[in-house]
Amino acid sequence: MASIRILSDRVANQIAAGEVIERPAAVVKELVENSLDAGATRIEVEFRAGGRAYIRVEDNGGGMTRDDALLSLERHATSKIAETADLDRLATFGFRGEALPSIASVARFELQTRTPEEEAGTEILINGGKFVHVRDCGRPAGTRLVVSQLFNSVPARRKFLKSDATESAHIIHCVRLYALACPQAAFTLIEDGRVIFRSPECATTAERVAEIFGRQVAESLLAVEATEAGLALRGLISRPGVGRATRHEMITYVNRRPVDSRTLSYALIESYHDAVTKGRYPLAFLFLDLDPAAVDVNVHPAKREVRFRNETQVRSFVIRAVLDRLRELTAAPLSGMAPTAAMPGNSGASPAGPAPAVAVAAAVAPLESRIAAPFPAYRLSTPPPAVPIAAALAASVSVPAAGQVERLRARAGWRYVGLAHGVYALFETDAGLLLLDRRAAHERVWYERLRAQFAAARVATQRLLLAVPVELDAIMSALLLDRLEFLNQHGFEIVEFGRNFFRVEGVPEWMDPADAEAFLRDLLGALREGLLTARDIELARDELARLAALRAVRLPDGTSEAEMHSLVSQLFACRQPMTNPTGKPTYVELSYSELARRFQR
Ligand code: ADP
Ligand code: MG
Repeated sequence: MASIRILSDRVANQIAAGEVIERPAAVVKELVENSLDAGATRIEVEFRAGGRAYIRVEDNGGGMTRDDALLSLERHATSKIAETADLDRLATFGFRGEALPSIASVARFELQTRTPEEEAGTEILINGGKFVHVRDCGRPAGTRLVVSQLFNSVPARRKFLKSDATESAHIIHCVRLYALACPQAAFTLIEDGRVIFRSPECATTAERVAEIFGRQVAESLLAVEATEAGLALRGLISRPGVGRATRHEMITYVNRRPVDSRTLSYALIESYHDAVTKGRYPLAFLFLDLDPAAVDVNVHPAKREVRFRNETQVRSFVIRAVLDRLRELTAAPLSGMAPTAAMPGNSGASPAGPAPAVAVAAAVAPLESRIAAPFPAYRLSTPPPAVPIAAALAASVSVPAAGQVERLRARAGWRYVGLAHGVYALFETDAGLLLLDRRAAHERVWYERLRAQFAAARVATQRLLLAVPVELDAIMSALLLDRLEFLNQHGFEIVEFGRNFFRVEGVPEWMDPADAEAFLRDLLGALREGLLTARDIELARDELARLAALRAVRLPDGTSEAEMHSLVSQLFACRQPMTNPTGKPTYVELSYSELARRFQR
């Protein structure tokens, strides 16, 4: 039997590292927190290859003496708390004293630091937990940490890392979170030699948002502020109607710490129930402050989740605060609904009334006429061009049993009965009753049309009368630059117009120009999720066509009998008429035999 022994410090640290340092972004988080705790007003973060090759965090904070620097690498060495009671009045991010020894145990770790009082700085090098040297070095007051070859000595952990792009996205998100939490410190973030953002000290969170997300985003936000029995909320939330396709821009802090909190996210989503379209999310940068004893931040050392002692109180407080702010706008629509992100050109003194996107939509020709025009009419008799369906589609969408589509197409005696619920077109055929979901059918028709167009490389562009300026944050801007050529080959005309600034001068013919910016933002959201990055052009086209069919194509207003018949024939000309591009059914059929059975005839 193996005898019990005490683990060496090195092994113990590696185990602790497994909990705290799960990926490169966790190293960045710990080091940036330390810099902020050290009172830094300038922090520079640089990384390479998603952080696994190299991470540097450098600050102008208080630095450490040689003794402190050596001590900081011991487990549970912290200058931040001395006893348990301190936990309840914690003013710093760190308190466990675990980060530095954990990181040093799983990477090459080089620390340089100097306090303002000392002449010489200290340099310590540790490699995979093994002490290499300590010596004097020259450097400005503050601390510089370089962590390289992360997890080289722990292959099991390295294996769990995602692609460089994913790890890099986590790092960028992390630095943004702290930059937003501490606008009074200047932040620079550099990836592979490219500056992702560089923000000077800012007086307010709003200014910081403008620095790293762009002026347009900042201007689309409203300030909220509310207090109530021990709770204080402040921050920025999006105006009604401004929504995002993902939750990435719902950012929450509790007592200055960036956190994930279901309570806070749900409170936000709920508050915006009537203010953003279903399935979209508001933007928010919310800071909640409350008695530290009423929050549990210790759920997991590396996770950002928090729990509140009184979830219900927090939830209803946040909902009330946000709703009150949104209602103020609806109560005073003339001043509140100032045009914002959609048409930045006419901010300020433009006429009151509906949101700009709506106003512009009304001014352009009804989509119906444009749907009809640019495409060759599909007939049941002329099969549509064969378009190779990407492997991804085949995988994500169930393919109907052979013969099913043929049987459907073989139905005769179509008679349009009417439109139910404004959504379902009811037909009778020789086989039974058939309910067509108009939206799903349209999405399918458009999806296949667009794919055919892309494959035939004949995507017409419509030049916009007024180019739409789009300001992006540096990450989005980099993503867009990477896919610019692809988008411009597929009907867009987007030009780079200065740092993080773009102009949309033309959009594909199928798109309502009023939707250009909203679609572009959805597209960028999709890029960030990893869509359209496929090197396989077919796959990227497929993704673009699907996104367009689901997001950018509007239902025509017309619901005449002729239009419904035409929709059916267009749908049946599709290769896969039974589902929309995400696999939802386009129709439901009730056969006469089924009806007879139900009526017990
Ligand atoms: P914790 O932050 O929980 O105290 P760490 O392992 O992250 O633990 O850091 C250990 C100690 O090292 C800190 O308490 C602090 O005294 C010192 N330290 C770490 N980073 C810095 C820095 N950038 N500047 C000054 N001191 C630092
Ligand atoms: Mg720390």
